[in-house]
Amino acid sequence: MFIVPEREIADLMTREAAFDAVEKVFAAMASGEAYNFPVVREAIGHEDALYGFKGGFDRAGLTLGLKAGGYWPHNLEKRQIINHQSTVFLFDPDTGKARAMVGGNLLTALRTAAASSVSIKHLARKDAKVIGMVGAGHQAKFQLRAALEQRDFDKVIGWNLHPEMLPNLEEVAREAGLPFEAVDLDGLTEADVIITITSSFEAILTPDHVAPGTHIACMGTDTTGKQEVAPALLAGATVFTDEIAQSVTLGEAQHAIAAGRLREDQITQIGAVINASHPGRTSDDEITLFDGTGVGLQDLAVAAAVVELAVAKGLAIEVDF
Ligand code: NAD
Repeated sequence: MFIVPEREIADLMTREAAFDAVEKVFAAMASGEAYNFPVVREAIGHEDALYGFKGGFDRAGLTLGLKAGGYWPHNLEKRQIINHQSTVFLFDPDTGKARAMVGGNLLTALRTAAASSVSIKHLARKDAKVIGMVGAGHQAKFQLRAALEQRDFDKVIGWNLHPEMLPNLEEVAREAGLPFEAVDLDGLTEADVIITITSSFEAILTPDHVAPGTHIACMGTDTTGKQEVAPALLAGATVFTDEIAQSVTLGEAQHAIAAGRLREDQITQIGAVINASHPGRTSDDEITLFDGTGVGLQDLAVAAAVVELAVAKGLAIEVDF
């Protein structure tokens, strides 16, 4: 089997490879060729850690495996290592033998950024010029960098509950040679695309903050109870997701569903748009909303891509196992 350590991922994986892997696996999910296994998530009663597994099988890409890991809240303070820790394990679907073990921390950030990018490619207006960010933490920088590649944006605007973090967004805008402006929530009506990526537990965006024709990628809500946008926004939008089962239970749609403002059968898998079995956006003033909940198959897809790159460059460690 091959081992690709976390330290090698930054030099191996590209945003393009992550985008392609995630776009393909979303398509395979919608055509029924790939499916996610039920997620396991446990408070293990040690170090206040949350630990779990996200797995799946993609018959189209022949990717079988799981991501194991979670959140250790005291890591940074006690051991100077990051609190989110994960590892991806891939298995040979023909034999069941372990095929690879891959560092999953940076890959998680890249596959999450790729998901909102895929949604922008397929759902945002072609003439989108202003991108608005809600959230300015670790993941926001990845989301913004990847999103900027999808349209000819000429300005970045941003809001964050903690304004002292906004320089994170300004830094990415500057890298891309774009101006950045901090705005209040009403100022987000200038945006053609909005990405939300916060740890909020209550609605931040309401319909008043969003102009007709906007594409919104809601990326922060990945757990029951979290929330970034008001149910009224989903009620007035065409809603897409990575996986419907997650969207209605732990994604942004959980609240609109509970409030009776959205039905499960009104949510479309983004893969259906990629496969052209759903038209996606049908008018310039429609609001499209992508509920990106984060699925195990995304992790497996990017891990499989990085193993290929590592083997090709002679950087994968091969062990007899
Ligand atoms: P981070 O801690 O670096 O940043 C957190 C962000 O949320 C900051 O912008 C902070 O100001 C904001 N925030 C914190 N508490 C808030 C509150 N009560 N109300 C509004 N904003 C608040 O975290 P991160 O790594 O950037 O992750 C952001 C979110 O994305 C987390 O909720 C994380 O679980 C989620 N996430 C989702 C996926 C996915 O696949 N959908 C993948 C990775 C992370």
